[in-house]
Amino acid sequence: MAHVQLRGLTLGGLEQFVASIGEPKYRAAQIYQWLYKYRVTSFDAMTNLSVPLRQKLTETAEIGQFSVVTFQTSAVDGTVKFLYELSDGKRIETVLIPPRTTAVDAEERMTLCISTQIGCALDCAFCATASMGFQRNLSTGEIVNQFLTAQTVSERPITNIVFMGMGEPMLNYENVMSAVEILTDQHGVGLSPKRITLSTAGYANHIRRMADEDRKIKLALSLHSLRDDVRTTLMPLTKKFNTEELLAALEYYNKKTKKSVMLEYIVFDGVNDTAQDVQLLVKASRRLDCRVNLIPFHSIEFTDPKGISASLHGASREGLERFWQQLRDHDVITFIRHSAGVDIDAACGQLAVKNVQPV
Ligand code: SF4
Repeated sequence: MAHVQLRGLTLGGLEQFVASIGEPKYRAAQIYQWLYKYRVTSFDAMTNLSVPLRQKLTETAEIGQFSVVTFQTSAVDGTVKFLYELSDGKRIETVLIPPRTTAVDAEERMTLCISTQIGCALDCAFCATASMGFQRNLSTGEIVNQFLTAQTVSERPITNIVFMGMGEPMLNYENVMSAVEILTDQHGVGLSPKRITLSTAGYANHIRRMADEDRKIKLALSLHSLRDDVRTTLMPLTKKFNTEELLAALEYYNKKTKKSVMLEYIVFDGVNDTAQDVQLLVKASRRLDCRVNLIPFHSIEFTDPKGISASLHGASREGLERFWQQLRDHDVITFIRHSAGVDIDAACGQLAVKNVQPV
């Protein structure tokens, strides 16, 4: 019989597992803490379990930890990009991002950008992951393992998580939410849900679902344009959920959760940086409780882009600051996100496992 992979089981899942091997329920809570709080990688390290129970676990289960193929560290800003190999031989990337040394919370913050799928089907024009095509969803264990493994390498505790790596989290909703349960459980990893952000390319239905389910994590929308024709070119998903449907879903989310949302906006030269774009963002920000994060475009040249992807250029620093200033002049809460890990192709939109064959 195949061994059960324990990393990735929620407390409820572990309770079912211990019952299946004839053990009392309280054993699940003990194993849960060893797995997620203490991150042990062997049953022998679970010292409050009896030796016969540890033997039984060895016969029926595996911890299910990752192997790190390699990791690269940015010489510029200390960002670390991990390449993990999964049990079926497929590979994913995860990025550990230290704060800028000048940030007020430089000593406290450490952010991990987590992947939720291998590749992605959504084909956003500016994104390297799109070049891989979609391969499969990650399991809950594979999502949580990105955190557990990165934490063993990180010099400081990881305090923040962003689901902004490879893939669309809303298309792997159940596994992502089970991972969030483990990551935020005080008996598990114990992160604050306020320090976890899920970013979607625009699944209006799931935005409403998150609101209905009163999910405590934060929400970001990868927006990039409020003109449907432009957004469709950048993000084909707009054909399914247009910008009005997205704004209506965010409004619903604001009202239902009383929480603000983040609008992410890569500023492309001559594409989405016109006076009309400023006006549309101003109008949207009056309608929503939101802030706008302006993101510099990071080159995806290494994917040998074709068509529209090949013609995209990021706004210059001056252009980006001008756009930011125009929004601020209209009282939009807006920030320019600093780029991290550009020299190791680990910045926003650059994740793509280079030796993966597209399917
Ligand atoms: S930006 Fe996100 S949703 Fe779009 S292709 Fe890349 S990974 Fe997929």
